[in-house]
Amino acid sequence: MRGVIMREPGDVRVEDRDMPTLLAPTDAIIKLAATCICGSDLWPYRGAEAVHERPMGHEYVGTVTEVGADVTSVKPGDFVVGSFMASDNTCEICAAGYQSRCVHGEFAGAGGAQAEYLRVPLADGTLVATPGVPDPKLIPSLLAASDVLGTGWFAAVAAEAGPGKTVAVVGDGAVGLLGILAARQLGAERIIAMSRHADRQALATAFGATDIVEERGDAGVARIKELTGGLGAHSVIEAVGTQEAMEQAIRSTRPGGHIGFVGVSHGVSIEGQGLFYSEVHLHGGPAPVRRFLPELIQLIWDGVIDPGVVFDLTLPLEDAAEGYRAMDERRATKVLLTV
Ligand SMILES: [Zn+2]
Repeated sequence: MRGVIMREPGDVRVEDRDMPTLLAPTDAIIKLAATCICGSDLWPYRGAEAVHERPMGHEYVGTVTEVGADVTSVKPGDFVVGSFMASDNTCEICAAGYQSRCVHGEFAGAGGAQAEYLRVPLADGTLVATPGVPDPKLIPSLLAASDVLGTGWFAAVAAEAGPGKTVAVVGDGAVGLLGILAARQLGAERIIAMSRHADRQALATAFGATDIVEERGDAGVARIKELTGGLGAHSVIEAVGTQEAMEQAIRSTRPGGHIGFVGVSHGVSIEGQGLFYSEVHLHGGPAPVRRFLPELIQLIWDGVIDPGVVFDLTLPLEDAAEGYRAMDERRATKVLLTV
């Protein structure tokens, strides 16, 4: 089968790879319907994270082709969506809703989901079958549920977005944009998108943003305060993972407010006294996408949400290297790879 390998930073190839096989009785093999490139794939691509001969990709939807002897909840022929983190969905941590930190968890993308087939560990606790074979036009949205939508949704929930709340969103990548969609669905009254790119501002508005702030740093914080009667937002989503974004998030939140931070943290350190006096709730980490999948799949199936529009470039798997370049150069927000 064909699959993406990142040999070294900046060097993405599509190569012949071995077909995945069942390694444990709890595994399933799926044939991908589509896959995509994640903003987090850019960290190793840009050399900000060590990488050598790594199979890439951790977002997936597709059809089950084979299951291990212990798998009971999905069967060959089922169309499934899964999280990037495999989980048993039964341990205490999973039961509390934190499947991304399952005590038996492992990275579901270890085999590389930017490929024709993928082995998914802990299939019963990781995969969710759709109500039937999806219309092809639903596939981008179902694929989004596998990571970016689930992550944006968790960020909005962690930030306690809801009725009467003003939500500020730091980061206009796919996760930030879908955090806006989530905040809208959760009933937020006002949603402030921080973005200086016209195309992303347009998508932010389409997903439910009521205000756009182009300023960053001190000026960005000042603008959020100005829009919130000097208090700061009730809820802030941090969807970048840099020092600047995290500081922006903390300083834009009112005392007593909540921050959902889901940008994969790189080089962030938080100054203790500033944090102490900020009096905010910080809640974040790798999103427990599995917690939200049943609800998200139903919202997509019923046509209530259309997160798939976040994909603004579609390429065949063979052209994955061009997809990485397009996202690296910010010519594309999110690249879907057809398989
Ligand atoms: Zn668990």
